[in-house]
Amino acid sequence: MSDGSGDRENSGNTWRKATQLVRGGMARSAFQETSEALYLTSGYVYGSPEEAEAAFKGETKRYIYSRYANPTVSMFEQRLALLEGAAFCVGMASGMAAMFAAIACQVKAGDRVVASRALFGSCNYVLTELLPKYGVETVLVDGTDLDQWRDALKKPTVCVFMETPSNPTLEIIDIAAVSELAHAAGARVIVDNVFATAVLQSPLKLGADIVMYSATKHIDGQGRTMGGAILFDDEAYMKDFLEPFFRHTGPSMSPFNAWVMLKGLETLDIRVDRHCDNAERVAAFLAAQPRINKVIYPGLASHPQHALAKRQMGRGGTMVSFEVDGGKAGAFAFLKALKLIDISNNLGDSKSLTTHPTTTTHQRLSEEDRLDLGITPGLVRLSVGLEDAEDIKDDLGQALAAVG
Ligand SMILES: *Cc1c(COP(=O)(O)O)cnc(C)c1O
Repeated sequence: MSDGSGDRENSGNTWRKATQLVRGGMARSAFQETSEALYLTSGYVYGSPEEAEAAFKGETKRYIYSRYANPTVSMFEQRLALLEGAAFCVGMASGMAAMFAAIACQVKAGDRVVASRALFGSCNYVLTELLPKYGVETVLVDGTDLDQWRDALKKPTVCVFMETPSNPTLEIIDIAAVSELAHAAGARVIVDNVFATAVLQSPLKLGADIVMYSATKHIDGQGRTMGGAILFDDEAYMKDFLEPFFRHTGPSMSPFNAWVMLKGLETLDIRVDRHCDNAERVAAFLAAQPRINKVIYPGLASHPQHALAKRQMGRGGTMVSFEVDGGKAGAFAFLKALKLIDISNNLGDSKSLTTHPTTTTHQRLSEEDRLDLGITPGLVRLSVGLEDAEDIKDDLGQALAAVG
């Protein structure tokens, strides 16, 4: 495909990460625009019926229909693929579209899926309610316990799904160790890398087969649009499973959203780094507060998998969870007293956002399951934003004073 960029074209493979994030995947039109063009088109025209025939037979590679592919979405996919170091990237309408497609495209009735039990609420629904309806058996294990993985993976398994760090208790799963066990059971390993981001963690390099993102979170990074992505190296997974699935079921990414996400990718590394700076300072501050029973942050030495987190992730991440004294009443009094930090279930935003998992994202679970996962009534999840860390700390401090 001609992109008009002439001999300045560079696929980006030889560039360093920061350069890839700004320029990777750029395909200029004949107008030589500086910024990525937004192609708001559902279809594409053919010069002749022969050209259309050849395109549908797959003899020529070109854009056919935006449910299959779109030039703006392709630029997003190429840029993210460069960052991840993956051969393939497929943009999706949302993180959940990505999660569902990544699994649903490869399983059939009678198959088995093993997953970690500490999951984003909707991922839990897909695994424990939706897939069983189609005759797929799903087994949940404590992701931090390798013996449970070993046990569950004694039987042939098609696919393994895990989220690390997990939502909202920030458990860390050993991607390399679980991948080894999963491969012995014949399973493809999918990692939901939303909390870590591609900047901090590279699951494919640790042995996973497929990485998925909610681009809605850190990739957009400013809370504007929904999006998702699936990344992998295996061409057979693309040809035999994912490509036919997404072409015919239509979880495609909107070109407008891809255009916003391309802008997000340009600053992803800088933002994630600053989010981590702030999260480290906020976690240390909270750990010293008398009205906080517990602080969960992978970058703190007190985190149960701190050593693994250090090995597997570049830094401690952008999320901090903590237990406010006084259960639900204490947590609610604290949330109501916040003046700067917003109450919102979104995360990875430039604005600091906080949520009460027991009554929102995880209210669907039974109380027993929640407590089993460490989601206590006093637990609060904080997505640390890009404001001045001193202002975030001041707001947390004044709100905690109100709890007493
Ligand atoms: C938000 C999120 C999802 C779902 O993404 P959407 O874009 O909201 O559909 C999946 N997994 C994790 C860990 C998330 O935080």
